[in-house]
Amino acid sequence: MTKKQNLRIIPLGGLEEIGRNMMILEYGDDIIIIDMGLQFPEEDMPGIDYIIPNTAYLKDKKEKIKGIIITHGHYDHIGAVPHSMARLGNPPIYTTPLTRGIILRRQEDFPKAPKLNIHQINKDDKIKLGCFEIEFFHVNHNIPDGVGLAIKTPVGIIVHSGDFKFDHSPIGDEPADISRITQIANQGVLILMSDSTNAEKPGHSISEKDIQDNIEIIFKEAPGRIIIATFASLISRIQEVINLAEKHNRKVAVDGYSMRMNVEITKKMGYLKAKRGTLIRIKDINDYPAQKIVVLCTGAQGEGNAVLMRIINQEHRYVRIQKGDAVVFSSSVVPGNERSVQGLKDVLWKQGARVYHYQMMDIHAGGHGQVEDLKMMINLIRPKFFLPIHGNYYMLKLHGEIAESVGIPSKNVMVATNGNVILLNQNSIKLDREKVPANYVMVDGLGVGDVGQIVLRDRQAMAKDGMLVIITVINSKTGKVIGEPDIISRGFVYLRESKELLSQTRKKTKEIINQTASSEHTVNLNYVKENIRDKIGQLLYTKTQRRPMVLPVIIEI
Ligand SMILES: [Zn+2]
Repeated sequence: MTKKQNLRIIPLGGLEEIGRNMMILEYGDDIIIIDMGLQFPEEDMPGIDYIIPNTAYLKDKKEKIKGIIITHGHYDHIGAVPHSMARLGNPPIYTTPLTRGIILRRQEDFPKAPKLNIHQINKDDKIKLGCFEIEFFHVNHNIPDGVGLAIKTPVGIIVHSGDFKFDHSPIGDEPADISRITQIANQGVLILMSDSTNAEKPGHSISEKDIQDNIEIIFKEAPGRIIIATFASLISRIQEVINLAEKHNRKVAVDGYSMRMNVEITKKMGYLKAKRGTLIRIKDINDYPAQKIVVLCTGAQGEGNAVLMRIINQEHRYVRIQKGDAVVFSSSVVPGNERSVQGLKDVLWKQGARVYHYQMMDIHAGGHGQVEDLKMMINLIRPKFFLPIHGNYYMLKLHGEIAESVGIPSKNVMVATNGNVILLNQNSIKLDREKVPANYVMVDGLGVGDVGQIVLRDRQAMAKDGMLVIITVINSKTGKVIGEPDIISRGFVYLRESKELLSQTRKKTKEIINQTASSEHTVNLNYVKENIRDKIGQLLYTKTQRRPMVLPVIIEI
């Protein structure tokens, strides 16, 4: 007998944020990975498209990786696939049909990414990857084909909930498979890892059937067009709108790149059902009377480039707000976007629309279980240990308390953070002293990871206080300044009205260069530049209380 080994559970993302979910399970020479998502950047990360998990820990463990399992098709679970697969040696991916379709469609946007080896699983399948044996169970979420995982490992059974809620009357989906979950639980589950996104919200999540009933009230009273903005990924909501449009004899025009793409895939694969002729092209909406039209679009968060914003700004090619329009925000407001959404509502009312919002009536349900759903999952599974996943730290903490409230002893609840190495065996759960890298990897255009903290800090400085370029010509023999330094500024001060400040800056620049040059006869350009950056920076700050980015350019002739 070899020494008893621990299973190593390593979250690379998703435990301190909502997004970039990725988790490693490692035992001996076998590794499997659950999900590979991205996170959308914060407001203070200009120019960053998104953030992906750091896979440095896996760099020299490529041969150990037996496979990747993806729980569902949301970008915070699949989004890093095009960026990370090459670095991981392109191991096989296992997932449900719709998720597979979405991953493959997205991969087409990244022609340089490797061709994926992606296997379709059905909910009743059992797959073996190294020492791990994986089974699946159906859960509800706001995209179809989401699964939870039951993984047999050498230390015991692990259950991973995926993103889930319990919906007993879902739209375009089956209820979560509670009998299957019970069956798994009856084999004795060592640890449950469960979705914490809504751990702060009391009660049960609202059923999609109720949402559809509430949206129907708007269909009954709207005299003109109905324009519904929601998240592109909310396939169940899109289905509800199509159902209602068919019932009330309206046509649906879908607009927005990501939403059209999702509708195309889900319809082709049979997940989204629409009668022939229900869906029309956005450019044809003016061929129908207003009361026959529904526009389904992106932009419920006030995102600058989304369809709703273009309509409001009168930049949309085919749609202008007109009197009698009903505009429905069928989504929650992501924290931080409240002000822009309020502004949108004002403008819409001014342009003649009636605005419906989730605060007025239940026209949106999240995709994640609330407190009572979370308790139900724990009660069904009855695990020995509990690890809250998917959420900010405080959500994980609250979820831990929920677990204790239904009888999991507090010593068996592990609240961990990204990069922790959780050591698990039949009898104990603890954190290793080691931590693995889990810091942000930023994707900027086509570059991955080449934008680090420094570049980001520069961008923040430029976005906040602008920049100032100082171009100086010097004599390469004497190191002395020739003529006057040239100054270019963007986003800092209006140069024509700042003559005094400019002449001081020029004077100071000349002083700095001439001083550093006279001490030795050879000029250390880097040293001079650093001096200019520091001292001009200080000067500008004392005069203006701003810290623009200072870029010294020195030309030797
Ligand atoms: Zn999700």
